Amino acid sequence: MNFPLLHLVYNVLLPATCTLCDSKTDTGIDICRACFDQLPHNHYCCTTCALPLPQALPAPTEKALQCGSCLGNTSLFSEACIPFLYRPPADFMVHQLKFAGERKFARVMGELLAQAAVPAMRPDLLVPVPVHSDRYLERGFNQASTLAAVIGKRLSLPVDDTLAQRTVARQPQAELNARDRRINMRGVFKTSRSCNTKHIAIIDDVLTTGATCEALAKVLKKSGCQKISIWAFARTP
Ligand SMILES: [Zn+2]
Ligand SMILES: [Zn+2]
Repeated sequence: MNFPLLHLVYNVLLPATCTLCDSKTDTGIDICRACFDQLPHNHYCCTTCALPLPQALPAPTEKALQCGSCLGNTSLFSEACIPFLYRPPADFMVHQLKFAGERKFARVMGELLAQAAVPAMRPDLLVPVPVHSDRYLERGFNQASTLAAVIGKRLSLPVDDTLAQRTVARQPQAELNARDRRINMRGVFKTSRSCNTKHIAIIDDVLTTGATCEALAKVLKKSGCQKISIWAFARTP
C-alpha cells in the first residue's frame, strides 16, 4: 500500500478534528479548510524578518523583498518563515498552547509551519528558543520545543534543544519597547558546546521585535553556526 492511499484510508477511518471548530476534517491536519481560510496569512512580508509589508509595494521579484530596517542592513538572519500574523484566531492558538497547555495546538501549529516552510531554505538543524528552567517548571513544557518536535518529524529534520540554554529569567518582553527588549535580552542565552552546523532554523511560537531570536542567533553564530533562519508560527506587525 502506498503512502497516499494509506493516508486516505486513515482519514476516512479516523478523520482529524479541527482544533478551532471541532468539525471533522480531511485536510490531513487538525484544521478544517474553512478555519484555515480564516487564519490571518502573512503572505506579503519581508523575506528577512517576516514583517508584514504594505500591499502598495511592487510585487515580489527575484530580488528579496525587505522591510525598511532590513534593507541595506546586515541582518543576523538569512531568512524568516512566519506564515501567520498574530491576530485572531492565530493569537488564540498561541495562547491555548502557551498558557492553557493545550498540546493539540502544538500539533496543528507545527504542521502549518512545516507546510509553509517547505519552499524555504532547508536548514540542517532546528533549535527551539529555550525557556528558563523556572518557566519550564512552571509550565511543564517549552512551547517552542513542542513545535520544533512536530516540524522536525514532518520535515525529517533533527531538533536540538540542548545546544542553547537560557541562563537568566528576565522580565517578560511584552512589557518592554523594542530598544528595552534588546537590552533585556543581553547575555540571556549561552551554548553548551561549539557547533559546526552550517544552517540552523530557530523555532519560536511568536516573533515580535525579534530581540529574543537575535540574542539566540548571536550565541549560535559565535559557537560556529554560519547561517540562521527564523521559523515562527505568528508575527506581530
Ligand atoms: Zn474548523
Ligand atoms: Zn525585515
